[in-house]
Amino acid sequence: MFENFKEIITNSAAETAKLGGSLALKIKGGEVICLAGDLGAGKTTFTQGFLRALGVEGAITSPTFVVIKNYTLLTSVLELENIYHIDTYRVGEQDLLDLGWEEMIANKKNVIIVEWPEKIEKIIPEGAWWIDFNLLNETQRKISSNLF
Ligand code: ADP
Ligand code: MG
Repeated sequence: MFENFKEIITNSAAETAKLGGSLALKIKGGEVICLAGDLGAGKTTFTQGFLRALGVEGAITSPTFVVIKNYTLLTSVLELENIYHIDTYRVGEQDLLDLGWEEMIANKKNVIIVEWPEKIEKIIPEGAWWIDFNLLNETQRKISSNLF
Protein backbone atom coordinates (compact mmCIF):
# COMPACT_ATOMS: atom_id res chain seq x y z
CA MET A 1 0.00 0.00 0.00
CA PHE A 2 2.88 2.38 0.74
CA GLU A 3 4.72 1.46 -2.41
CA ASN A 4 5.93 4.54 -4.28
CA PHE A 5 4.63 6.75 -1.49
CA LYS A 6 5.96 10.28 -1.95
CA GLU A 7 5.87 13.45 0.07
CA ILE A 8 6.15 16.61 -1.96
CA ILE A 9 6.63 20.06 -0.49
CA THR A 10 5.18 22.88 -2.56
CA ASN A 11 6.32 26.44 -1.93
CA SER A 12 3.43 28.32 -3.49
CA ALA A 13 -0.16 27.94 -4.64
CA ALA A 14 1.11 27.87 -8.21
CA GLU A 15 3.30 24.85 -7.44
CA THR A 16 0.37 23.01 -5.89
CA ALA A 17 -1.78 23.78 -8.93
CA LYS A 18 1.00 22.49 -11.17
CA LEU A 19 1.07 19.22 -9.23
CA GLY A 20 -2.68 18.96 -9.83
CA GLY A 21 -2.04 19.47 -13.52
CA SER A 22 0.51 16.67 -13.55
CA LEU A 23 -2.00 14.28 -11.99
CA ALA A 24 -4.56 15.18 -14.67
CA LEU A 25 -2.26 13.57 -17.24
CA LYS A 26 -2.59 10.19 -15.47
CA ILE A 27 -6.34 9.76 -15.47
CA LYS A 28 -8.08 7.26 -17.69
CA GLY A 29 -11.68 7.83 -16.66
CA GLY A 30 -13.61 6.36 -13.75
CA GLU A 31 -11.30 7.65 -11.02
CA VAL A 32 -12.51 8.82 -7.62
CA ILE A 33 -9.78 11.16 -6.39
CA CYS A 34 -9.85 11.88 -2.66
CA LEU A 35 -8.18 15.05 -1.41
CA ALA A 36 -7.81 14.86 2.36
CA GLY A 37 -6.53 17.58 4.67
CA ASP A 38 -7.38 20.66 6.65
CA LEU A 39 -8.99 23.89 5.58
CA GLY A 40 -6.53 25.96 3.56
CA ALA A 41 -4.23 23.01 2.90
CA GLY A 42 -4.53 23.43 -0.88
CA LYS A 43 -7.18 20.93 -2.02
CA THR A 44 -9.13 23.42 -4.12
CA THR A 45 -5.94 24.98 -5.49
CA PHE A 46 -4.77 21.51 -6.55
CA THR A 47 -8.13 20.86 -8.20
CA GLN A 48 -7.92 24.13 -10.11
CA GLY A 49 -4.63 23.03 -11.65
CA PHE A 50 -6.08 19.61 -12.39
CA LEU A 51 -9.09 21.07 -14.20
CA ARG A 52 -7.07 23.70 -16.08
CA ALA A 53 -4.81 20.95 -17.43
CA LEU A 54 -7.89 19.28 -18.89
CA GLY A 55 -8.89 22.50 -20.63
CA VAL A 56 -11.50 23.87 -18.24
CA GLU A 57 -11.75 27.63 -18.73
CA GLY A 58 -13.37 30.32 -16.63
CA ALA A 59 -13.75 30.50 -12.88
CA ILE A 60 -13.05 27.39 -10.81
CA THR A 61 -14.29 28.09 -7.31
CA SER A 62 -14.75 25.93 -4.27
CA PRO A 63 -17.93 23.84 -4.23
CA THR A 64 -18.24 24.28 -0.45
CA PHE A 65 -21.67 25.86 -0.68
CA VAL A 66 -23.09 24.03 -3.70
CA VAL A 67 -21.54 20.66 -2.70
CA ILE A 68 -21.06 19.49 -6.31
CA LYS A 69 -19.76 21.35 -9.33
CA ASN A 70 -19.92 19.64 -12.67
CA TYR A 71 -17.44 20.44 -15.43
CA THR A 72 -17.95 19.21 -18.94
CA LEU A 73 -15.00 19.37 -21.30
CA LEU A 74 -15.17 21.12 -24.65
CA THR A 75 -12.40 19.00 -26.08
CA SER A 76 -12.86 15.27 -25.88
CA VAL A 77 -10.08 14.35 -23.47
CA LEU A 78 -10.33 10.55 -23.16
CA GLU A 79 -14.02 11.00 -24.06
CA LEU A 80 -14.68 12.01 -20.49
CA GLU A 81 -18.26 13.06 -19.90
CA ASN A 82 -18.20 14.82 -16.56
CA ILE A 83 -15.71 15.90 -13.99
CA TYR A 84 -17.40 16.35 -10.64
CA HIS A 85 -15.73 18.49 -7.99
CA ILE A 86 -17.34 17.67 -4.67
CA ASP A 87 -16.90 19.26 -1.25
CA THR A 88 -18.54 17.29 1.55
CA TYR A 89 -17.63 19.79 4.28
CA ARG A 90 -21.27 20.62 5.00
CA VAL A 91 -22.91 17.30 4.12
CA GLY A 92 -22.72 13.59 4.81
CA GLU A 93 -22.95 10.21 3.17
CA GLN A 94 -26.73 10.18 2.77
CA ASP A 95 -26.72 13.60 1.10
CA LEU A 96 -24.23 12.40 -1.45
CA LEU A 97 -26.23 9.25 -2.11
CA ASP A 98 -29.33 11.43 -2.62
CA LEU A 99 -27.39 13.56 -5.11
CA GLY A 100 -26.66 10.51 -7.28
CA TRP A 101 -23.27 9.42 -5.97
CA GLU A 102 -23.65 5.78 -7.04
CA GLU A 103 -24.48 6.71 -10.64
CA MET A 104 -21.63 9.22 -10.73
CA ILE A 105 -18.98 6.74 -9.64
CA ALA A 106 -20.35 3.90 -11.79
CA ASN A 107 -19.77 5.79 -15.04
CA LYS A 108 -16.22 5.13 -16.24
CA LYS A 109 -16.37 8.29 -18.32
CA ASN A 110 -16.63 10.38 -15.17
CA VAL A 111 -13.88 11.60 -12.89
CA ILE A 112 -14.83 12.56 -9.34
CA ILE A 113 -12.70 14.74 -7.11
CA VAL A 114 -13.71 14.79 -3.45
CA GLU A 115 -12.60 17.30 -0.83
CA TRP A 116 -13.18 16.07 2.76
CA PRO A 117 -13.41 12.39 1.76
CA GLU A 118 -12.96 11.55 5.45
CA LYS A 119 -16.56 12.62 5.92
CA ILE A 120 -17.96 10.09 3.46
CA GLU A 121 -15.40 7.34 3.92
CA LYS A 122 -18.03 4.57 3.97
CA ILE A 123 -19.12 5.27 0.39
CA ILE A 124 -15.68 5.84 -1.14
CA PRO A 125 -15.05 2.91 -3.49
CA GLU A 126 -12.10 0.58 -3.13
CA GLY A 127 -9.32 1.61 -5.46
CA ALA A 128 -10.00 5.32 -5.04
CA TRP A 129 -6.96 7.57 -5.36
CA TRP A 130 -5.88 9.31 -2.13
CA ILE A 131 -3.81 12.42 -1.64
CA ASP A 132 -3.07 14.02 1.76
CA PHE A 133 -2.58 17.74 2.15
CA ASN A 134 -0.79 19.29 5.11
CA LEU A 135 -0.42 22.94 5.91
CA LEU A 136 3.21 23.51 6.98
CA ASN A 137 3.27 27.31 7.09
CA GLU A 138 1.92 30.29 5.17
CA THR A 139 3.45 29.32 1.84
CA GLN A 140 4.38 25.65 2.13
CA ARG A 141 2.23 22.55 1.90
CA LYS A 142 3.21 18.89 2.23
CA ILE A 143 1.33 16.78 -0.29
CA SER A 144 1.60 13.02 0.16
CA SER A 145 0.47 10.21 -2.09
CA ASN A 146 1.55 7.14 -4.01
CA LEU A 147 0.20 8.75 -7.20
CA PHE A 148 3.03 11.13 -8.08
P1 ADP B 1 -8.53 23.91 0.73
O1 ADP B 1 -9.39 23.64 -0.48
O2 ADP B 1 -7.68 22.74 1.14
O3 ADP B 1 -9.33 24.45 1.88
P2 ADP B 1 -7.51 26.13 -0.82
O4 ADP B 1 -6.80 25.60 -2.00
O5 ADP B 1 -8.89 26.67 -1.01
O6 ADP B 1 -7.48 25.05 0.35
O7 ADP B 1 -6.67 27.30 -0.15
C1 ADP B 1 -5.30 27.27 -0.01
C2 ADP B 1 -4.86 28.69 0.31
O8 ADP B 1 -3.49 28.71 0.69
C3 ADP B 1 -5.00 29.63 -0.88
O9 ADP B 1 -5.36 30.90 -0.44
C4 ADP B 1 -3.58 29.63 -1.46
O10 ADP B 1 -3.29 30.83 -2.16
C5 ADP B 1 -2.76 29.53 -0.19
N1 ADP B 1 -1.45 28.89 -0.39
C6 ADP B 1 -0.27 29.38 0.04
N2 ADP B 1 0.73 28.54 -0.23
C7 ADP B 1 0.18 27.48 -0.85
C8 ADP B 1 0.72 26.26 -1.36
N3 ADP B 1 2.01 25.94 -1.29
N4 ADP B 1 -0.16 25.40 -1.92
C9 ADP B 1 -1.48 25.67 -1.98
N5 ADP B 1 -2.04 26.79 -1.52
C10 ADP B 1 -1.22 27.69 -0.95
MG1 MG C 1 -11.47 23.56 -0.69
